[in-house]
Amino acid sequence: MAVVKVDLAGRSYDVHIGSGLTGNFAEECGSLLRKPRVPIITDSNVHSHWREPIALALEAAGKQAAWLVHEPGESAKSWDGLSRTVEWLLSEEVERGDHIVALGGGVIGDLTGFAASMLKRGCGFIQVPTSLLAQVDSSVGGKTAINVPAGKNLVGAFHQPSLVLADTDVLATLPEREMRCGYAEVIKYGILGDVAFFDWCEANGPRVIAHDREAIEYAVTQSVKAKARIVAEDERETSGARALLNLGHTFGHALEAETGYSDRLLHGEAVALGMVLAARYSARRGYLSEDEAQRISSAISASGLATEIASLGLDCSGQALANHMLHDKKMDAGTLPFILLRGIGKAFFDREVALDYVAAFLTEQL
Ligand code: NAD
Ligand code: ZN
Repeated sequence: MAVVKVDLAGRSYDVHIGSGLTGNFAEECGSLLRKPRVPIITDSNVHSHWREPIALALEAAGKQAAWLVHEPGESAKSWDGLSRTVEWLLSEEVERGDHIVALGGGVIGDLTGFAASMLKRGCGFIQVPTSLLAQVDSSVGGKTAINVPAGKNLVGAFHQPSLVLADTDVLATLPEREMRCGYAEVIKYGILGDVAFFDWCEANGPRVIAHDREAIEYAVTQSVKAKARIVAEDERETSGARALLNLGHTFGHALEAETGYSDRLLHGEAVALGMVLAARYSARRGYLSEDEAQRISSAISASGLATEIASLGLDCSGQALANHMLHDKKMDAGTLPFILLRGIGKAFFDREVALDYVAAFLTEQL
């Protein structure tokens, strides 16, 4: 097992990464579980696969799991999902010194973290991420939120977990398409800041998708280290360091908006396409060599993710796609914050990107 420490001003927490953590759940959580009843929030997919090992592990330690099971999917990250969660936690008599367990993907982690941030003015929570995306991205860093009619993740809080248990065994039941989506965020860390990790991904990406245990543990550990480093530098997204994590996301969000945030294009798939577009756009501007842009595209394609937006068969113009970016919540004082590349592992923040130029570039790609 690997342990990565997330060091923040004034406090820190550990991320445990490895096999067998859920089977050892009570010991892993240790004194964070003060009471015999342990409130666990999850979704029905995760519950059907992983309820039993966790319940048994708690029973062996003289504790009992209390479950709140949401429907799978983004719909749980809503006002309804939040009120259901908070009311249930109150009925379970959770107190400020207690810890709530978030067992699930990014949806359950974001929802539970937000509920924990407000319950009794802030109680503790433990992230037990069960999707690859949640293990490498959403469970670390303390961003929590729900979606509202005005947009995704617009209502939320910064609230850090006390512990993250990333059990690589739980990924065994994750659908392959979700594995690939999580992998997009894995290779992102290499492309944005670590060429040696990119080299590793180039050689080993297909092993991660194929559930090779050793490859997954390495990929999750390197990803969490990268995220922990960036979050420690910029906990509340004020200095710009954390913005680098948005590599591929501005292009990606435009594609998600155009496809209606539907199953047609999942977030990780959009980010994969977005990173290829960011690389090609960087090459077009002369920041990155064509060879490096091609290497990025090939490495992403080797893991089974699409790299051509033409494959989506979108019926829209490059201008229409660019217009979606104007509505991106990360727009800052009228400038579009693009993360571009000066080389593999050398992402940088460019505030000077002209939307017309991006629109023309996208028209060529469609
Ligand atoms: P998700 O939570 O919807 O999980 C994806 C699907 O996989 C769901 O159907 C879920 O039921 C299923 N699943 C999860 N674990 C499983 C397992 N072990 N076995 C079988 N099925 C399993 O989505 P996600 O991709 O994990 O997370 C996406 C969410 O994360 C979005 O809402 C996004 O906004 C958020 N997010 C947050 C941050 C952050 O910093 N807080 C970062 C990135 C993404
Ligand atoms: Zn993302």
